Amino acid sequence: MSLVNRDLSVVWHPYTQMKTALPPIPIVRGEGACLYDENGKCYIDAVSSWWVNIHGHANPYIAEKVAEQLRKLEHVIFAGFTHEPAVELAERLLKILPGNQAKIFYSDNGSTAVEVAIKMCLQYWHNQGIQRTKILAFKNAYHGDTFGAMAVSGRSAFTAAFDSLLFEVEFIDLPDESNIEGLKSHISSLKSELACFIFEPLVQGSAGMIMYEARYLEQLMAHCRQEGVLMIDDEVFTGFGRTGKRFACDHVTIQPDIMCFSKGLTGGTMAMGLTTCTQQIYDAFLSEDKLKTLFHGHSYTANPVACSAALASMDIFMDSSTVDNIKRIEDSHRQFGLKIKGHSRIRTVRQTGTIIAMEWETGTNTSYFSSLRDRLYQYFLDAGIILRPLGNIIYILPPYCITNEQLNYIYNKIETALEEI
Ligand SMILES: *Cc1c(COP(=O)(O)O)cnc(C)c1O
Repeated sequence: MSLVNRDLSVVWHPYTQMKTALPPIPIVRGEGACLYDENGKCYIDAVSSWWVNIHGHANPYIAEKVAEQLRKLEHVIFAGFTHEPAVELAERLLKILPGNQAKIFYSDNGSTAVEVAIKMCLQYWHNQGIQRTKILAFKNAYHGDTFGAMAVSGRSAFTAAFDSLLFEVEFIDLPDESNIEGLKSHISSLKSELACFIFEPLVQGSAGMIMYEARYLEQLMAHCRQEGVLMIDDEVFTGFGRTGKRFACDHVTIQPDIMCFSKGLTGGTMAMGLTTCTQQIYDAFLSEDKLKTLFHGHSYTANPVACSAALASMDIFMDSSTVDNIKRIEDSHRQFGLKIKGHSRIRTVRQTGTIIAMEWETGTNTSYFSSLRDRLYQYFLDAGIILRPLGNIIYILPPYCITNEQLNYIYNKIETALEEI
């Protein structure tokens, strides 16, 4: 039986309507920005395999480090025990994070990193006997698929089956020149109830690569700080160079209280999440009273192999060649953006760092489920490019090692698609 048929008889895929979806494409190996199928056809991974891969597939340096660690220690319970990769990763991360970040809490993925962040905030107040349980978030936010993460995400077709079970959240608009003062007074009016404000900095990925300006985020953050509202900076998507700087919060001067990471953390090699916090948050859990403990953990917390993948990824991330690559992609995207901006079928082009998004004219139907999305997806697959449009929005966010030839090939195919579809 073919791999595809075996798959279809036993596997249930994520975000996939199994009745109508096309069969999955078997991939046998990867190299750089390319994924190869059984026949040796290369698919350029223009979405970094759901935004996780930053240094290319099967990166030999990361592979070597992971293999080394696997032969030494594959895993150990992280309550009551520790190991070198977890400690070294925490030390090295804290050196490059905003100066107020003091502690690292390990978990498994972006959603769990968010769950931990929410629990830290809620229990921070609880431990002090202060009743503050309301959470502030942006409309259309996406913070993950587990229940807490879903609750602080925008309500949509994806959450409809669960809406009645999600805890209530105060949703506000993205800030801009016209509404910033209103948002500030709204926060002030709620401040005594607010446990925290959670946000995706600069780019709302899943919402369709919606972007907003750093200066308004900065004003909101400054206001939260002034009003004593804790801030959770969800950098699961934007961390590790995506926005052109190491972290999206490096675009603003206010430092968040808590940060969440996952996607780029291990270079896209292993599942891992982490939540970082300030000394002030950490201290609120220190007590002779056991009930003030943060009662949270996962079986694979701080898995040594995942930590070593993250360390290897960080080596590459900190190398000047990666900084150059990020700059090169930014410049290249900018030129392409200018080129197609005026096209009659392009409604808007927006860019932050290595992310460029183009909104297509659709006439009337703009929903995620529009057939344009499926036709575009298939068109690019046929051309050997993985682009997964969010509705009528096409975006490119490649591994940083993508070559100029590969980038130009993607741009060219987008231009051809504009004429042909
Ligand atoms: C993807 C994402 C998450 C969830 O991460 P998973 O690893 O998929 O659970 C959380 N926050 C943001 C901003 C994301 O883009």
